[in-house]
Amino acid sequence: MAQQEDHFKKVISHAKEYGYIFGSSEIYDGLSAVYDYGQNGVELKKNIREYWWKSMVQMHENIVGLDAAIFMHPTTWKASGHVDAFSDPLIDNKDSKKRYRADVLVEDYAEKLNQKAEKEITKAAKRFGESFDRAQYEATNPRVLGYRTKQKDATARLARLLEADDLAGVKALIEELEIACPLSGSKNWTDVRQFNLMFGTKLGASAETATDLYLRPETAQGIFVNFLNVQKTGRMKIPFGIAQTGKAFRNEIVARQFIFRMREFEQMEMQFFVRPGEEMKWYEYWKETRLNWHKSLGLGEDNYRFHDHEKLAHYANAAADIEFNFPFGFKELEGIHSRTDFDLKAHEEHSGKKLQFFDPELNENYVPYVVETSIGLDRMFLAVFSKSLQEEQLENGSSRVVLKLPAILAPTKAAILPLVKKDGLPEIARKLMEDLKFDYNVVYDEKDAVGRRYRRQDAAGTPFCITIDHDTKEDGMVTVRHRDSMKQERVLIEKVKEIIETQVSYKVWMS
Ligand code: ATP
Repeated sequence: MAQQEDHFKKVISHAKEYGYIFGSSEIYDGLSAVYDYGQNGVELKKNIREYWWKSMVQMHENIVGLDAAIFMHPTTWKASGHVDAFSDPLIDNKDSKKRYRADVLVEDYAEKLNQKAEKEITKAAKRFGESFDRAQYEATNPRVLGYRTKQKDATARLARLLEADDLAGVKALIEELEIACPLSGSKNWTDVRQFNLMFGTKLGASAETATDLYLRPETAQGIFVNFLNVQKTGRMKIPFGIAQTGKAFRNEIVARQFIFRMREFEQMEMQFFVRPGEEMKWYEYWKETRLNWHKSLGLGEDNYRFHDHEKLAHYANAAADIEFNFPFGFKELEGIHSRTDFDLKAHEEHSGKKLQFFDPELNENYVPYVVETSIGLDRMFLAVFSKSLQEEQLENGSSRVVLKLPAILAPTKAAILPLVKKDGLPEIARKLMEDLKFDYNVVYDEKDAVGRRYRRQDAAGTPFCITIDHDTKEDGMVTVRHRDSMKQERVLIEKVKEIIETQVSYKVWMS
């Protein structure tokens, strides 16, 4: 645990030191849970967005994009249920004065039981060695069974209470489980209250005529209200999808864990419209497709798991999260939701306009069902960045800090390094840069010994360093140094582009 916390601290400081992420308006001491992306961060973020967009839109004939405005007619949020139901149950600790999400307190309690069970299993695995049968041990060991039963009981009861909107019951559950404030250790809690997460703002010049608006808390509704526009003008046939990336805003009660939970963040969402009755098939399809997308980045398959929801949102008939092994444990990275026809029907009711599709094969009109995939771009950034940041012990006894970003996502693909600042080497380096810069982000660096320059690029996440030395002038060859293996190869300068391409082409990563 301490090791994980330590790693998380390093992630945050590295992100700042290498121009990835800064606190917002830092010179004024920052703004809680709001962040700015620096010169490298903006590139990594853009590349993640692009990787998502290409795989969802470009690679699927029946998915198209959209860029809806952040401001929407206020009735949108009435129809979607956000005005009435987009709230979190909050609870305060009377001694520490700290505010928590009541559901998160119970979930953290359950996760601790899970960790205890896992610890028992790991201990037993060590004791039994190769003959260890995990499944059998899990099914029979009384201690593990005890932890698991308590864990399931707590989450199931929480789900039932939230479903019934029984806030007094949630408080009673927290008291019964003897959950203490992580800060003060006190069990002196206030009542549980609901808190709406939407930010309000005003449109218009004068106070009398201004309209109350909300900053959108999700990008999905921009897709729903444009469903017919896109379907008609794009002559789309069901099943088809509409994808969108963009900012969303939520007044989170407890915003913490760096860019994991922010008040202003970016989502990448895709709504897939299907025939009623076929939604489960597509739900399974998208669960698998999205998990494969994550795995394609090579961050380690064990770092993902599904979590099926027990408590479903008001619009869903099935929902699962793809959880990622963040530096603070497994947490939601992406949601896949079967949203039924809830949203389109609600917009039909509130707008008085039909939002239906005429299915020529069935010869009938219907309101399509929707399967949604929704991922936070910033959370994805944190997943990629935190797993890529590594400290390696080298054979010669020294160590290096290396950011092993998937090459396709790296902000800069190559650094061009003339060995010395003279003898015509910078000129050759500049020429190579001119040649590469149309296709790739490349940087030029001539300061310090070349070893130090390599380390600088390792820490910034650059997959290739290309060194030009005196021999280059004679034989036209340069040294290509690979970030992850630290291997060096000598190649003809004309070959450099080909080598870079083998590691940063979408075709290689996506197929
Ligand atoms: P959580 O339970 O963590 O609050 P959620 O279930 O409310 O998330 P969704 O409404 O399903 O999240 O949003 C889809 C995705 O948007 C999430 O999987 C997450 O990656 C991202 N996301 C949601 N809230 C935030 C936030 N405050 N900061 C950053 N990303 C977020």
